Amino acid sequence: MKNYNEWSQMAAALSLKTQAYIDGGYCAAADGATLDTINPATEQVIASVASCSDADVELAVVAARRSFASGSWSHRAPADRKRVLLRFADLIEQHSEELALLDTLDMGKPIADSLGFDLPSTVETFRWSAESIDKLYGEIAPTGDKALALIQREPIGVVAAIVPWNYPLMMASWKLAPALAAGNSVILKPSEKSPLSALRLAELATVAGVPDGVFNVLPGYGHTVGKALALHPDVDVIAFTGSTAVAGQLMQYAGQSNMKRVWLEAGGKSPSIIFADCKDLEAAAATSASAIFSNQGEVCIATSRLYVEESIREPFMKLLLQEAAKFVPGDPLDPATNMGPLVDRQQLDRVRAYVASGVEEGASLLMGGETASTPGNGYYLPPTIFDQTHETMKIVREEIFGPVLAVDSFSSWQEAIDKANNSDFGLGASVWTSSLNKAHRSSRALEAGMVWVNGWAGGDSSTPFGGVKQSGNGRDKSLHALEKFSELKMTWIALDGLD
Ligand code: NAD
Repeated sequence: MKNYNEWSQMAAALSLKTQAYIDGGYCAAADGATLDTINPATEQVIASVASCSDADVELAVVAARRSFASGSWSHRAPADRKRVLLRFADLIEQHSEELALLDTLDMGKPIADSLGFDLPSTVETFRWSAESIDKLYGEIAPTGDKALALIQREPIGVVAAIVPWNYPLMMASWKLAPALAAGNSVILKPSEKSPLSALRLAELATVAGVPDGVFNVLPGYGHTVGKALALHPDVDVIAFTGSTAVAGQLMQYAGQSNMKRVWLEAGGKSPSIIFADCKDLEAAAATSASAIFSNQGEVCIATSRLYVEESIREPFMKLLLQEAAKFVPGDPLDPATNMGPLVDRQQLDRVRAYVASGVEEGASLLMGGETASTPGNGYYLPPTIFDQTHETMKIVREEIFGPVLAVDSFSSWQEAIDKANNSDFGLGASVWTSSLNKAHRSSRALEAGMVWVNGWAGGDSSTPFGGVKQSGNGRDKSLHALEKFSELKMTWIALDGLD
């Protein structure tokens, strides 16, 4: 791993891609508009990036539709698509340092995380999707003698992937890899807060052999580019990761336009339950801290609500505070940093407002809160823990998307489950226990798309990722992700008798 000076030098020497990528080439926004992307560690402008709007959406949709209809990708043998996507994965791997650096500069996550986690995970997602696509068979239905019924999966058409800034490249890959593997043409809209890695990715796709028009990138704001894509009558699928509020709007846009498929990975307020029979309290405390303070708490599956069984409350909280203190805000280009700045001023103000509301509503602030002891500029907030929280408080009900943990206690299994389920969200949930029975009972009872026993965030490319309730629908990763990007086609062939 490069040291701080080497990363800084590399950052200074970067040649940034700042234009939209449509039909295999870079171009300015049709009206010439740009938006500034800001480094949250320095508050300095990194670059002015094309700010696309309706005219650019039109160009990209026409290019994507033309490429889809031409069959240059959609009709290609799955094994050929696999080879191109494996080359694409290799290129991403070869450019890992550059891509990781772009994400760190754009949204502030520690370079150790972007290079050590986001990039390997992105590469793995492309490889896994590529490898899967030439191993999927159709079905023959168990009809009677008079017919043969074939059930096949077909690519859908033009997919618009709208993604957030918290794991810019990785979230994009969760949509792109299965959508491309399945044979669709894709328009990626990165967050206006983190467009740089997606713009660089686009030309790597072309070098890998993805045909022109099959992969396009439109940087810009949600209310312009994102909305125009979601309302467009010739976009067949919206694959979205982001907030629950925007997810709801996308469903409306689909209803107002062409009933495009809408797949949503939205917000979370995930619970973690520490039962008294947890056999490794140290591990539970360390994981509970990283599950809310890593990536500055800007993690959709962050377990931001912690329920501790009353009888172990005191020893557990002591351990938790020790573990939380290990997260120290610092310059994200320093490989030793484990906590960077929040993504922008707006997010910092938002999180601070939640901290103030926690205090106002009577929760007990154990650590953190207002200021981070960091030198210079940047949107830093230290690990913040509230104890004595209650189900009615805003800091317990609403997704904060920052390093703020709400702790409560319970004295029976049912009370723990009831408190955990008392939420509009249903993304993930952690359970810490040494009882197999309690683990299974809890998993069945918890309203969540993913349950982790004695851990947090467990999963790999083979396991589906997603939530229930207002955390979304559909799943990223695993073969289930392909269901979002293909339609079932049934062909019924009537058979005559042979005389
Ligand atoms: P956001 O909803 O503000 O933005 C997400 C994307 O939608 C961005 O590209 C944005 O430009 C676009 N957008 C905004 N308004 C739009 C509109 N009216 N029409 C179309 N597109 C629009 O979310 P964010 O702040 O970028 O990301 C944080 C959120 O993402 C959190 O709620 C987090 O929980 C969620 N998230 C969920 C998952 C998951 O897998 N469930 C993963 C990561 C992040």
